[in-house]
Amino acid sequence: APLPDRDRQLLARRAKTIGPYSPLFYDRPRHFVSGDGVWLTDADGQRYLDAYNNVPHVGHANPRVADAVCAQLNTYNVHTRYLSEPVVDYAEQLLATFDAPLDRVYFTNSGSEANELALRIARHRTGRSGVIVTDHSYHGNTIALASLTTGLTVSEPFGQHVRTINIPDLDDPRRADPGEQLAAAFAEIDQAIASLEKDGHGLAALLIEPAFSTEGLPRLPEGYLPGLVERIRAAGGLVIADEVQAGLGRLGDVWWGHQATGISPDMVTLGKPLGNGYPLGGVVTTQAVLEDFSSANMYFNTFAGTPAAAAAGKAVLDELKDRDLLARTGGLGRHVAGRLRELAARQPRVAAAKGRGLFFGLALVDEDGNPDSPLAKRLVEALVRERILISRIGPNDNVLKIRPPLVIERDELDHVIDTLDSALAAETRTVGTHQ
Ligand code: PMP
Repeated sequence: APLPDRDRQLLARRAKTIGPYSPLFYDRPRHFVSGDGVWLTDADGQRYLDAYNNVPHVGHANPRVADAVCAQLNTYNVHTRYLSEPVVDYAEQLLATFDAPLDRVYFTNSGSEANELALRIARHRTGRSGVIVTDHSYHGNTIALASLTTGLTVSEPFGQHVRTINIPDLDDPRRADPGEQLAAAFAEIDQAIASLEKDGHGLAALLIEPAFSTEGLPRLPEGYLPGLVERIRAAGGLVIADEVQAGLGRLGDVWWGHQATGISPDMVTLGKPLGNGYPLGGVVTTQAVLEDFSSANMYFNTFAGTPAAAAAGKAVLDELKDRDLLARTGGLGRHVAGRLRELAARQPRVAAAKGRGLFFGLALVDEDGNPDSPLAKRLVEALVRERILISRIGPNDNVLKIRPPLVIERDELDHVIDTLDSALAAETRTVGTHQ
């Protein structure tokens, strides 16, 4: 059906103000006017199951978060150069979710600001400038971060001080066996470090997502992450774990992605879900790193970590704890993983079930076993027609990305998987007869 006049006019006004390049999901853009838990309602009153958005971590329009922010805004809200009890309370509660020695936090307004600050800290701490990232990653929108973006199109020249590494994935049938992948991956890291040293940049930091979500949720060979971290530390670099997407209980059972992998970063960067939509991010680090940087730099950030932001953050932590959402996410994730593995075994176009907790997906391939990005796109469109929101990721854009608010129910997850199962059957059947 064509877009209603109302939405066509809105699209035209949007193009004339925000610009036609500002991305919109779906062939037919959706126009939402309200939300509740995992549900979004469009301007025609149709309800959509949101299985994609991770900013509304504890649900759209969560009343506890909204009320906490309103109450704080109705009381007072100042920047951080005054003493403020709600801010310190929240910092203590947030830091209690981390393991020693991570016990200090800088607040920011976004994931980009957090990664930008983490790089700045690493440059100061090491006196070097080199950064290693993966070959399909995104860490934010500042100049420093655009200069190391590999996962989407940017015009900023790629930094001469940046080297990329490829992330092994045991689910990729085109790649060598685990032992060979691991050896090749370690050789690549050593080469990246040597190249930074040879060119005079030296190594300041490794910046990675421990869950590698932008990279398509690869299944890593045993020992890969510890080996990577060991090599970075041996070269004097700091390890920055970008937990903007996969942190705060998303992976189930643990608070942070790095806790699930057993690595111990020097800095962890936070964003998206932290304030459930109220802007809130941060860099969590050690006392030694904070003192080294802050004794030489006056870091001030007007809107970051205000009492209102802290109220949002605290309400999110309270929801996660009171509703036992970490353990619940772990349990739901195991249920989903079992169902996806069954689906992958039965559907020839599904190469692998990916992910952990409530961050999961399916890697799709064509009849010859090659990554099938058009099929992934058709499935995303098929699901939105069934009023379910998902997306896709990975270097080949062939991995379905399913990442619902953590308050999703088990029968709602089953509905997503059942709908995917039938859409997959329908889509692959259609293609077969048309070819
Ligand atoms: N890191 C990762 C892994 C992200 O996914 C994003 C946002 N997509 C960012 C950083 C940047 O966060 P923000 O958009 O809040 O600046």
